[in-house]
Parts: sequence; C-alpha cells; structure tokens
Amino acid sequence: PTSTSLLEIREIYVNYGGIHALIDINLFVNRGEVVTLIGANGAGKTTTLRAISRLVNTRSGLIVYNQHDITRRPAHEVVRLGLAHSPEGRRVLARQTVLDNLELGGYICSDAKQVSTDIERQFELFPRLAERRHQLAGTLSGGEQQMLAIARALMCRPKLLLLDEPSLGLAPAIVLEIFSIIENLRSTGVTILLVEQNANLALQISDRGYVLEAGCITLTGKASDLLADERVKKAYLG
Ligand code: ATP
Repeated sequence: PTSTSLLEIREIYVNYGGIHALIDINLFVNRGEVVTLIGANGAGKTTTLRAISRLVNTRSGLIVYNQHDITRRPAHEVVRLGLAHSPEGRRVLARQTVLDNLELGGYICSDAKQVSTDIERQFELFPRLAERRHQLAGTLSGGEQQMLAIARALMCRPKLLLLDEPSLGLAPAIVLEIFSIIENLRSTGVTILLVEQNANLALQISDRGYVLEAGCITLTGKASDLLADERVKKAYLG
C-alpha cells in the first residue's frame, strides 16, 4: 500500500457460523486503479466485497477507506463516504421503472436536485437506459439490467466502486460492452475493485490482481504478470 491507497484491508477474517470464509486477507487498492479478484466458486470473492461495503461483519482485522476506519461502520454510512457496491445477480427492483431504480439509488445519499442531475449523467453514460427510462426493470435484458445495477451504484458519485460479477450470464457481445463501460468509468476517475469469473478479460483491463483460494490470498501481482503466470493460466484462464 502507498499513501495513495484508497482502500486498505489488513488481516481480515470472516466466519459464517463454523465456516471460515475469509482468512487473514490483506489487500489494497490505489486511487485510479482497477484491481481484480479472481478465484473459483466459493473462494470468498463476494464475501470480500461484502466485508468492505459492511454487509457482513469481520471477526477481526482492519478496513481503511479514504483514511476512514470503516471496520465497524454501518453500511449506509459507508455509501455516503463514496464507496458503492454493485452486487452479484444485479438485484434491480424488477417491478419499478429504470427511472425509479436510479432515483432510489440516489436518495440514499443526496437531495432531489442532485438526484435529477445524476440521473441525466447516467443516461449520458448508458444511452440504452435513457431510451428505456419508463420500462420496468424486470423486463430489461440481462445486459441492460447489469447496466442499471452499475448506473444505480454510480448515483452516489462513488470514489470506489465494488463490482461483483458484472459479466455473469451475459452474451459475449454484451460482455465486451460491459467491459468497455468499466474502462470508461476508470477514465472518469472511478477506482474499481472487480470480481470476475472471466479472469482473462478482467485482468486485461486491470492494473493488479489477487487470487483467492479457499478464503486465502495465494497470489498477487501486476495484471500482466498474472496473465503470464503458469498457475493462473492453468487454473483460471482456460
Ligand atoms: P461465487 O463466485 O460462487 O459467489 P465466491 O468466491 O464469491 O464464490 P463467497 O460467496 O464469498 O465465494 O463464499 C465463500 C464461502 O462462504 C463459501 O464456502 C460459501 O458457501 C460461504 N458462504 C457465503 N455466504 C454465506 C452465508 N450467508 N452463510 C453461510 N455460508 C456462506
């Protein structure tokens, strides 16, 4: 970690009952970086993101975000500090319109005036959502729902965006579109911690990565080094 680290996690442990989901996790994300977590199903990637956004409690360890110790802060306060989480499975409100989903995302952290400005910004970033603003979210395609989940997370103008499996279940062309949106976001100054099954594509747009196995970080390095690593190639790059 450096003085420019936006996020630093030290020695965190998470248990679910008797299951040790995270064991001594140490990681950092510097300002402006895209960092990817890769690992098999059940390795603890989602739990790591949920620990950071305070949706699960850590048993011990320290989480520092933008110089705030957030280890014990409630999730709604963490959102207001500019740390947003776009969860796995998208979780948009299916029976609400695109516009309603964005408004609800915005009211967590700001007032009506800023919410309407921010909605217009999302529509510039995601023209497909603009065209569908009055459509019920549940009737959007999978890729559009993913865009909505990301746009909703952006409503709080995050400095750090946690993205869980944004490409899951999407057709290849849409996957590429989602990845180009992520690159776009990065160029607007958003720092990103990404969890992805598609390790190949994810590492291609990342600065660094971490490999999680059974709740432990077993490997970390520059994304280009991980892409060339024989163990990573064999286990995750197909
Ligand atoms: P996936 O890609 O399948 O989501 P993951 O790497 O994100 O995998 P996690 O979802 O973080 O993994 O799960 C880590 C471990 O914790 C797994 O063994 C999982 O079964 C367990 N686990 C996750 N959530 C819970 C929960 N709410 N209660 C009990 N065990 C859980």
